[in-house]
Amino acid sequence: MVSPHILQVALPVPLPNLFDYLAPPETPEIAEGTRVLVPFGRKKMVGVVVGRAGRSEVPAERLLTVLEVLDGGEPLLDTKLIELLRWCWMYYKHAPGDVIASALPPALRKVKGKLPGPPLHYYLTAAGRERLEQPPGRARVQFEMLSALAAGPVSGAMLSGIGSQWRKTLSALTDQGWVESEPMPPAAPQISPGPKLIPDQREAVDSILPSMGEFGCHLLDGVTGSGKTEVYMHLLEKVLAEGGQALVLVPEIGLTPQLLRRFRNRLGLEPATIHSGLSAGERLQAWAAARSGRAALVVGTRSALFTPMPRLGIIVLDEEHDASFKQQDGFRYSARDIAVKRAAELDIPVVLGSATPSLESLSNADRGKYSWHRLRERATSAPLPAWRVMDMRQQSTQSGLSVTALEAIGDTLERGEQVMVFLNRRGYAPVLMCQQCGWSGSCERCDAHLTWHRSMGRLCCHHCGAQRPAPHLCPECRADALMGAGEGTQQLEEVLEMRFPGFPVLRFDRDRTSRKGVMGQQLEQVRKGEPCLLVGTQMLAKGHHFPAVTLVVIVNIDQALYSADYRALERMGQMIQQVAGRAGRMEKAGTVILQTLHPEHPALELLLSRGYEAYARWLLEERQLAGLPPAGYQALLRAEAHERALAEHFLDEAARVFPPGETKVYGPMPAIMERVKGRSRMYLVVQGASRSALHRQVDHWLPGLRKLPAARKVRWAIDIDPQEL
Ligand code: ADP
Ligand code: ZN
Ligand code: ZN
Repeated sequence: MVSPHILQVALPVPLPNLFDYLAPPETPEIAEGTRVLVPFGRKKMVGVVVGRAGRSEVPAERLLTVLEVLDGGEPLLDTKLIELLRWCWMYYKHAPGDVIASALPPALRKVKGKLPGPPLHYYLTAAGRERLEQPPGRARVQFEMLSALAAGPVSGAMLSGIGSQWRKTLSALTDQGWVESEPMPPAAPQISPGPKLIPDQREAVDSILPSMGEFGCHLLDGVTGSGKTEVYMHLLEKVLAEGGQALVLVPEIGLTPQLLRRFRNRLGLEPATIHSGLSAGERLQAWAAARSGRAALVVGTRSALFTPMPRLGIIVLDEEHDASFKQQDGFRYSARDIAVKRAAELDIPVVLGSATPSLESLSNADRGKYSWHRLRERATSAPLPAWRVMDMRQQSTQSGLSVTALEAIGDTLERGEQVMVFLNRRGYAPVLMCQQCGWSGSCERCDAHLTWHRSMGRLCCHHCGAQRPAPHLCPECRADALMGAGEGTQQLEEVLEMRFPGFPVLRFDRDRTSRKGVMGQQLEQVRKGEPCLLVGTQMLAKGHHFPAVTLVVIVNIDQALYSADYRALERMGQMIQQVAGRAGRMEKAGTVILQTLHPEHPALELLLSRGYEAYARWLLEERQLAGLPPAGYQALLRAEAHERALAEHFLDEAARVFPPGETKVYGPMPAIMERVKGRSRMYLVVQGASRSALHRQVDHWLPGLRKLPAARKVRWAIDIDPQEL
């Protein structure tokens, strides 16, 4: 059918297409980005108009009409953002409705969701001032509120201090004509000068500043403590001073009170934060503030990338190598790659910062696609830490800690300094085992052992969340011979407490810090600088400043050395470097003890003797030889089913119909952890040397895949530029 008013609507359904609807006769012009309520099957759904079609494949009599135009017809997403999202669903080959939904706060994905207006402030009218000059009389509370308003406009938040009935009082005053309101003007940033930049910082800032109004991707490559954040700050300063907005993305657990405090103090404004830990209401407020331009600075995790910001002038992505920038389910996008795309479309700079850049970014910098800015020294001239590799085959140990490490810990504490012990495994022991018959607790639904959480008396699966009480006797042979095998952070905590009485042990892992306030309290205690022990998982490796820590012990990294995942060595190098970077940040030099059974492993030797960059170059060469990313391009076709044979059959069929071309398909093969939540997970690897050829072939492949009978018996998804196997 041909009509000037056919709308293309993105709906939250797992289908690869848009849906055509007719605009209601009374509002024939509906702008792109507007939310609409439409009939879908027997339901009503909220969709977003993403375009207009001159004609529709749907016959005229079956074309339905939009039921309601929401938000008063005001488009919530601007045209540029819709363009970006369109690029995303084409590139990632994901359902458009799902992609669009990721740009809306959860509250606005529902019919009832409303775009909040700007926060108001309140002031006295002339009549209000007159009233204030008379005696209060019996209306004491009203009078109190009038007095509070006497000095000038006041926000609702400040009036709420008057009592729980403040809204009622306020509306009584408004009804009397004593008080009026208007939208609060946005607060102007109050920038305080930062420290004098050291030469490397100066060079980076000076080379980025002149090109602020144009696209450029800048890799800011500097060891921890080299002053990257200070460089970001100088760039943000410039954007904010000119009335622009800035977007800063950080890893999932990098959004710390410390970082926000630094932005607040230096830039003199309250950053709007957007992350999954917020309530729906908070998230909506922050999103609306960014969209209206009131929030000049947005700091958030991956999903904040799609926040509409009308005057966006710069995007900063801190710790760009971090795995949490890639979404691992549903819409599997890379926030890093899309940040670069968004900056290119808006003609603004994007800064990717890291002490351990990803191989992707290093290779882009090598090829001149990114400008490369190195910060070689620490901003505070603290020396880099010294390494000590412990050969664990020659050491006696206690709960996974070598005697040498324990001695060094004792010496450090006695000197009045702090120690960090890093182990990427929470819980008490990764396995509960019978010494009699060899039984071990494993998850019924996953290829994984159950982690023993001794204090809770439970066995937990860290992959599917399953839990059960820990048995006292062996379920197999009834012997009283159950023992934990291996160590987790809880056990380290216990051992260190016993061994070093009098020194507080602070544990940082998901079990401990999920309790509200604990993270902040513990960080506060560390900041005091008194001797203590920090024990934790990778949570410790990110974003924190621990100036009094002078010894870092890395308990065990051996798993990564022989992993089947080709990215494991890259991640191991980044992790070691990041953890080590936490030590001795101020005037004191730090020591890092690394415990391993494979001190002679060439990767480890290279990393420790020549540093991360040489290590990364060697990894890049290996990838080059194998044609692996970033030297080649990959997509995975993932499938899962209760029975392995179903997933395998689907993938076999899929491989059979893969279109010919230079991109090849390999597999099927089982995922590194095949069974999770009772489902078998397998994949095909699509790999080739040309990105465009890969996309062309995959685009031809998908419609056929959807029609395969075997596809109906599995859950499947395509993963472009995958990060996990
Ligand atoms: P990074 O982000 O690279 O880890 P930061 O920007 O956090 O580094 O800087 C590390 C420490 O050095 C911080 O305490 C910061 O205040 C300080 N610092 C940064 N730049 C300077 C400078 N030019 N002069 C003095 N101190 C600085
Ligand atoms: Zn037994
Ligand atoms: Zn499980």
